[in-house]
Amino acid sequence: MKLIDPHIHCVSRTTDDYRFMARCGVVAVSEPAFWAGFDRSSAASFADYFHHLTDVEPVRAAQYGIEHYSWLCINAKEAENVPLAREVIRLIPLLLDHPRVLGIGEIGLNKNTANEITIFEEQVDLAAKHNQLILIHTPHLQDKHKGTAIITNILKNDRRIDPQRVLIDHCEEHTIRMAREAGFWCGLTIYPRSKLTPQRGVDILEQFGPEKICVNSASDWGDSGPHTLVDTVLEYRRRGHAEAEAGEIFFNNPCRFFGQCDKWKIPAQR
Ligand SMILES: [Zn+2]
Repeated sequence: MKLIDPHIHCVSRTTDDYRFMARCGVVAVSEPAFWAGFDRSSAASFADYFHHLTDVEPVRAAQYGIEHYSWLCINAKEAENVPLAREVIRLIPLLLDHPRVLGIGEIGLNKNTANEITIFEEQVDLAAKHNQLILIHTPHLQDKHKGTAIITNILKNDRRIDPQRVLIDHCEEHTIRMAREAGFWCGLTIYPRSKLTPQRGVDILEQFGPEKICVNSASDWGDSGPHTLVDTVLEYRRRGHAEAEAGEIFFNNPCRFFGQCDKWKIPAQR
């Protein structure tokens, strides 16, 4: 069956990962802008990163028959440096017409600090002014519930924001209700350690139903990998769900969310 990994940091992954994804049926990926594993020293470094995301990585992915799309932003961790963050934000409007850019992301919070909230709000404003889809990063572990509450409240209080055009990512058992009840799309991230296991991911899919949920590997430079998405598909099928049901979650749902941007060229399958 055909799959989409809706959240993966391909700049940190090897050609073996691309080959693995192609063999498993992954036909498209989306790559949000994120922390590189170290703090960058200048806005110029982000300009190069955005070039890598929008122009270099799609060519690399195409060699494996995979469509590559991306999202632009300053991530929550580096948003702690407000002057740098504002310089980076000024780079983004010029790139929003790029045919591979789906929207603003992954913006959100890391430690729920005042500086992070300031820059988050400025990027929500940027997305609203340019009518962009939004991909949200929610914090890790003990900061997640509070951070998700802050983020969803800011978004709900901005009348320009349509919740159907926002995906709240890295949801877990204790945060998914908050996102869903406000009408947002939700992302589940499956990791070898931390975040969700394939079993917990499928438990959530069974408990909450498949509507408006996208499952991803969020593979990056750390302990992660594109296999976690495939392991989740296998766990879902192992529990007796039909291939067509799996296709709804692991292919059609990302097509539906991303398809709200007319640059996304892959239709959901009927
Ligand atoms: Zn990410």
